[in-house]
Amino acid sequence: MRQLRVRIQVPSGSPKLIQGVAQLGRARGPGPRGRRFKSCLPDPNLKERRELKILRPSIGAAGIFFPIGEPKKGGTCEYASGKCLKKCYALDKDYDEMINIPEEDKREIYNFFIEKSTLAICSKIIKEMDELQMKVLSWFASGDCLDKDIDKFYQIMILLDEEGIVQNGFTRNWRLYQQTIEDEVIGHIVLTLESLSQRDNPLGDSLSGLWAVPDYEKGMVRLYNGKLGNKSYGGCGSNDVITKFDGKEVKITANCTGCYYKRLGCFYVGK
Ligand code: SF4
Repeated sequence: MRQLRVRIQVPSGSPKLIQGVAQLGRARGPGPRGRRFKSCLPDPNLKERRELKILRPSIGAAGIFFPIGEPKKGGTCEYASGKCLKKCYALDKDYDEMINIPEEDKREIYNFFIEKSTLAICSKIIKEMDELQMKVLSWFASGDCLDKDIDKFYQIMILLDEEGIVQNGFTRNWRLYQQTIEDEVIGHIVLTLESLSQRDNPLGDSLSGLWAVPDYEKGMVRLYNGKLGNKSYGGCGSNDVITKFDGKEVKITANCTGCYYKRLGCFYVGK
């Protein structure tokens, strides 16, 4: 496994990853110390001791799933519109069954990001990406970045970028998006707007990267690229991607790693 090169200071007492090992019921041999049927019962502490996985497969990427919805209700979609909270694909029952990550797991994953050090989080991401054999890390595969978390998440993004981890993701958080554009480090974080009129944001014209507008009827987001004249060049849904390839519009199965290697979808750079 790759070792993480660190440019931030390691705090004394290096962070410990959650490494609980699930112990299946160990049966003692027959004898006076135990009755066999007891050891066959499910371990009541199994859930507490299982190893937390912070990444899950998501359309050909390793996805980071946070709870969706408003912060006051426990979600992480601070800039969600009423419409997207009703129509978000992550609320779709079919999608929910496809990814099958219970809400409490998403909360646990988010808490891990909040409670652990940047170094511990990066180490775990790299380890899990190796295990999943995924090339692309997809941020906010559900949920979003809260304002209070921007600095930490951005620091993680920078460290991972230095380690050669390809990252993409969709956010409605302008400040996070602006940071990724200004520093030109993470070029594939897409800003989601509710409509084209939202381009005139008080934070200024920073739509010089990727941005998107949901098409709720079609169940996909329309993709735009400021560097390519802010004209839509395709779209992405949880099943299909419509993208330009060799100057023509094509429809392909949604797969972030495929998009990365073929320079399509969020990785489209023009002809
Ligand atoms: S367009 Fe491609 S890279 Fe972007 S989210 Fe969709 S599948 Fe992933």
